[in-house]
Amino acid sequence: GSTIGILGGGQLGRMLAMAAAQLGYRCHIYAPEDHCVAAEVSAAFTQASYEDEAALAAFAADCDVVTYEFENVPVAPLAALGDVPLRAPARALEIAQDRLAEKDFVSELGGSPAPYFTLEDEAGLCAAIEKIGTPGILKTRRDGYDGKGQWRIKRPSDADELTVPPLPLIYEGFVKFEAEFSVILVRALDGHIRFWDSAQNDHSGGILSRSTIPASDTVLAQVPEARKLAAKVAQALDYVGALTLEFFATADGPVFNEMAPRVHNSGHWTIEGATTSQFENHIRAICGLPLGDCGLRVPGAVMDNLIGTTAEECLPVLDDPSAHLHLYGKGEAREGRKMGHVTRLILHEGTE
Ligand code: ATP
Ligand code: MG
Ligand code: MG
Repeated sequence: GSTIGILGGGQLGRMLAMAAAQLGYRCHIYAPEDHCVAAEVSAAFTQASYEDEAALAAFAADCDVVTYEFENVPVAPLAALGDVPLRAPARALEIAQDRLAEKDFVSELGGSPAPYFTLEDEAGLCAAIEKIGTPGILKTRRDGYDGKGQWRIKRPSDADELTVPPLPLIYEGFVKFEAEFSVILVRALDGHIRFWDSAQNDHSGGILSRSTIPASDTVLAQVPEARKLAAKVAQALDYVGALTLEFFATADGPVFNEMAPRVHNSGHWTIEGATTSQFENHIRAICGLPLGDCGLRVPGAVMDNLIGTTAEECLPVLDDPSAHLHLYGKGEAREGRKMGHVTRLILHEGTE
């Protein structure tokens, strides 16, 4: 059989490896952490820095194709992978790991992000507030996830109280949204694109807490325009694999938030709720196989993240026979840490 290399060792890598195993592939995980939940379900594990070109070259020698589950993998050292194809492409990684590059790129394709301003120096926050106004959010351009590296600015005086963190930073206007949603697509090697139904996403403290299928009518009305943009992004990057774009549904239509060049937390419901999951279709795409259907196999689904709770505390969700529990095998249940998720299928139209 052939071997799929996965850069990153988190739960997304774990679920990708499980889907790959079903299709008969062997997975080799590459991650800097000594304990990683993706390696636990994979045949091989290289523990090394993402900057270690010798280790990357040795990893590539064992792989037929390489993918990534973590969007902050440094791009330059990936040249060490040589001729082994990297799917999704490095360019997608490069753009998605910098909020400025991401917003510029999507704007050029006709998308509308919130108004944004890059800070050039320490005094940049005042300039940004002057240009964009308040309320707004100051964000690190790189390395942020789960709402980390973000500071909400309610009024201009908030800027005086904030010790401005190190550059590079971006300031964006606060979007008055009616709802949040995501578009997840998969693009095959031959350019064919399929979309899953868009989930409506609720966040708490910057972390995704719940994804609901179907989304509200307000969201559904904005999905076609959002899909058009997502398809343009995928085509422009000659993308292969699963690609996610997050949106705010507003009175003026869909406002682009950010993109992730990978499978996404808001698509975990597809494991039980769609004919083919995001994980399986990502594996199919990067291996050059035909894509599976992305349609719903049930009228609806609700996915809840299990954040900061121990496995034992999660088990009672199984009292509901429509619930599917996923635990990621992470040791310590720290605050804000995603330990697992539960998907409840809505099996009959019009009931919950
Ligand atoms: P992820 O884990 O999704 O990668 P992240 O750390 O990259 O998260 P964002 O998606 O930028 O963070 O923001 C997290 C959440 O904070 C958003 O889903 C939204 O609820 C809120 N948020 C972020 N930016 C804005 C904005 N400009 N206006 C209103 N709300 C915002
Ligand atoms: Mg993000
Ligand atoms: Mg986000």
